[in-house]
Amino acid sequence: MILLVYPPFCTPASPPYSIAKLYSALKANGAEAKAVDLNIEFHKRKYPLFQKYFQAFQKQYEKYADVSADYLKTTKEDYTSNNKMVSAGKNPELFDEMLELILKEKPYAAAFSIVYSSQAFYAFALLKALKEKGIKTVIGGHGVNTALKDIADFHLNNEMELLAFCGKKENLKEGMIDFSAFNLNDYFTPSVVLPMKTSSTCYYQQCAFCTHHNKSKYLEFPLSPIVEAIKNSKQKHVFLIDDMLPKKRILEIASAFKPLKISWMCQLKPTKGYDAETFRILGESGLKAVVWGVESGSDRILTLMKKGTNAKDVKSVLKAAHDNGIKNICYIMFGFPTETKEEFLQTIEFLKRNSENIDLASTSVFGLQKGTPIYETPSAFGITKIIETERTLLGPSIKYEASRGLSQEDAEELRKNYRKTLDKLNKYPKAMNFFREHLLLSV
Ligand code: SF4
Repeated sequence: MILLVYPPFCTPASPPYSIAKLYSALKANGAEAKAVDLNIEFHKRKYPLFQKYFQAFQKQYEKYADVSADYLKTTKEDYTSNNKMVSAGKNPELFDEMLELILKEKPYAAAFSIVYSSQAFYAFALLKALKEKGIKTVIGGHGVNTALKDIADFHLNNEMELLAFCGKKENLKEGMIDFSAFNLNDYFTPSVVLPMKTSSTCYYQQCAFCTHHNKSKYLEFPLSPIVEAIKNSKQKHVFLIDDMLPKKRILEIASAFKPLKISWMCQLKPTKGYDAETFRILGESGLKAVVWGVESGSDRILTLMKKGTNAKDVKSVLKAAHDNGIKNICYIMFGFPTETKEEFLQTIEFLKRNSENIDLASTSVFGLQKGTPIYETPSAFGITKIIETERTLLGPSIKYEASRGLSQEDAEELRKNYRKTLDKLNKYPKAMNFFREHLLLSV
């Protein structure tokens, strides 16, 4: 039997999609498989009081804001100290219990899905222990790095390779995604929010700062098995975790979801076609909130980012969504290379002017990542020097120097100075940027 493992640490708000997808594919093709979400196992043992609160929270946002701020501070400190323990060659907290949850299943192989780099440390410690016990180890996922590749026996790139690893190569069947391997009552939400994916990757793949799509092919999954899976689950809340979907497809999804009478949310790019009529249709299908890649209020920066949007269209998209009862969560990225202070302020002004149509602002400062168009052609973005510093268990940290514009430190400082203005935009507690499932459940 192969055991699929989802290691700590990430937000324990929903069952892991990656594992559910692999589990369903293995089952559909007759492979013997089990699955364990060690992330929720860790969090429910370590934070039972937070679990209790988040499973029962009502719309009392003052209390929610206090508890969630405490949760985020506590977990940040704990994750950091545990990661340091692993870097120092020690085992992290609750390690024996987590290891036992794997060993008691007596798998011939343990396959780890590592979606976030924040899972790399705990995964590393578990992989090391499993190897010592003679259990074959397999890794895959966006968060895989060199240190993990060095310690695991196999690094696989996709579901097909995992099926082949399990001896299933021919006449493969598409499995209907199923979350039955998880105890859905454990997650830190008052109702279950199912993560679902309807496509392989982003359809657009052009933003200069992004690697989410991994340059893989955009494929749309058939919708009827997804609809069936939602029906079978009897759950009423769905978070579409697709990187980015075109309007035509989102309308097809809306038409497939409408009879289900569910509430759902998704991530989109604010382009011109999203008008009032579109949001009326989407709203009627149960769409409650959209996470928008707004990024900037400056057209020069949006063009440089190759975002394919402009401030005027973004403004009308946010208004049309708001007017039709959709909640708008806006991703904002400050400090894109060559961004000036004036352009930073242009974004602040844009947000202030559109505050009526913004429900939550999720801001970050640009960070350079390997594999992005900026990394590959830095001079086109004013970057004169890239400085990489090796780290023990993560990929190298990357800093850069640019010929003009704000440095990352300047942008961070400015963001701090405008924190009050940014906080004022939020109609929901800020922590719902981490627990976006809570926002869906609050609408
Ligand atoms: S930022 Fe979003 S829209 Fe742009 S390439 Fe990445 S996933 Fe696609």
